[in-house]
Amino acid sequence: VSSLGKGISAASIGRLLKERGISVTIQKFDPYLNVDAGTMNPYQHGEVFVTSDGAETDLDLGHYERFIDEKLSRQNNITTGKIYSTIIAKERKGDFLGATVQVIPHITNQIKDEILSLSTQTKTDVLIAEIGGTVGDIESLPFLEAIRQFRIDMGKDNVLYIHVTLVPYIKVASELKSKPTQHSVKELRSIGIQPDMMILRSEKRITKEVKSKVALFSNIDKNSIIEAMDAKSIYEVPLVFEKQKIAEKILKHLKLSSKKIPDLTEWKKMLNIILHPTKKVTISIVGKYTHLKDAYMSVEEALKHGGIANDARVDINWVNAEELENEDLNLHEIFESSDGILVPGGFGSRGIEGKINAAFYARTDNIPYFGLCLGLHCAIIEFARHVLGWKDAHSTEFHPDTPYPVIHLLPSQKNIVDKGGTMRLGDYACKLKFDSKPYKAYMEEVVKERHRHRYEFNEKYITEFEKNGMIPVGVNPKTGLVEIFELQSHPWFISTQFHPEFNSRPTKPHPLFKDFIKMALMEREKKRG
Ligand code: GLN
Repeated sequence: VSSLGKGISAASIGRLLKERGISVTIQKFDPYLNVDAGTMNPYQHGEVFVTSDGAETDLDLGHYERFIDEKLSRQNNITTGKIYSTIIAKERKGDFLGATVQVIPHITNQIKDEILSLSTQTKTDVLIAEIGGTVGDIESLPFLEAIRQFRIDMGKDNVLYIHVTLVPYIKVASELKSKPTQHSVKELRSIGIQPDMMILRSEKRITKEVKSKVALFSNIDKNSIIEAMDAKSIYEVPLVFEKQKIAEKILKHLKLSSKKIPDLTEWKKMLNIILHPTKKVTISIVGKYTHLKDAYMSVEEALKHGGIANDARVDINWVNAEELENEDLNLHEIFESSDGILVPGGFGSRGIEGKINAAFYARTDNIPYFGLCLGLHCAIIEFARHVLGWKDAHSTEFHPDTPYPVIHLLPSQKNIVDKGGTMRLGDYACKLKFDSKPYKAYMEEVVKERHRHRYEFNEKYITEFEKNGMIPVGVNPKTGLVEIFELQSHPWFISTQFHPEFNSRPTKPHPLFKDFIKMALMEREKKRG
């Protein structure tokens, strides 16, 4: 089933192989018809993870990057939509002249080509391919058929199948049930795939009996059954797998040997802080998808990483932006327990005034504020309205005829009609102002961060903002586009046009998140002692 943790499993295996000096990459296959995740609503899909080459991808790629600490590319996320577009374009060009173009072999060959071309390009020892969806879905059949053939093409020793299944716990009977797993293996075998290894996900410890039963029914060795009980932190999973020697088992099957002795000290240290922090801090995230946490996956993770760097647990106070639009609302009550406020990226006008109110509250109450993309737009609109006195200031995204378009469409976006993959996407450079807070946090003059937007700060107002203390401290060296604003008279009020959350890792927390949490902790101490 979905949300089972296939992504975390793949990412954890990747980490353990990498620890052994084996180079890895991870590729996600999504069986839907969208060409990429960019046009989907977060409710459908959770966060859209942006790669540095500007692809809008599945959130599992975020887990992969955070676990294996490698930058992935657009080729690491393949959807049915992408496969079909390629095949149809080839057909139109005449590449298949004379032939009837079919799912087998044309679609399946294209899927296999995607695996091969990524592994050739990255020259990795092991490519982990995660097939999204559920065995038995119509949509995922071509992918399963492709990986079935792949083993025949590549040779038995070069391909290993791992099947991740759910072992539900029936409370009233106090029993773990292996039946769904048995059925799913049966289904998989009926399409010609015999798993070599299984990962059993469960909320309880898997008993010996259940393990033996699954082994027997699935026709695999008991040693190849890996137990994966719900963990306190996703970062615990590699260690849970390591104990069960998963990497050795995989390498043995693939006839590969470790190139170095794994050293998980750094990982364990990081996990130890997550599980036993000495401090804690509360951050409010003000957004519109607050009841679907997956929508802000990388932001939440990056905040946790900032916590790790400061030996602190980060508790999130999810604030629904729409609720903040109510004028009678007491903002003080909502944010009373918060030591920092973060407004993440977003689209559409729903909740926008609430986010602007959050920026107002953070600015006037001296609460650390971190605005990401739309969060920068909100901070700028708020400043224009209440400090510069431009009452109707807005972004043309929400109010096209505003007399003060402080945020407006990027010139390069003006003639764009198609919505898919056409934003300003991926890595762009940002030059930092010497001695600014971001400069001190990064300790670098030029940084590269990932983007996903159509609107930007309207440069014609720059003097007004700067004169009044809203300072552009990060600028794109080529275009002059403002990438970071810092409010001078405030303990920590920083907003970025880019999305720093995509570059944070548990073992390498992002400098801005680290600094934001550090300041939130200081403010907390001041306020609460
Ligand atoms: N909607 C805004 C834009 O397109 C902000 C996008 C974002 O926050 N990622 O520019």
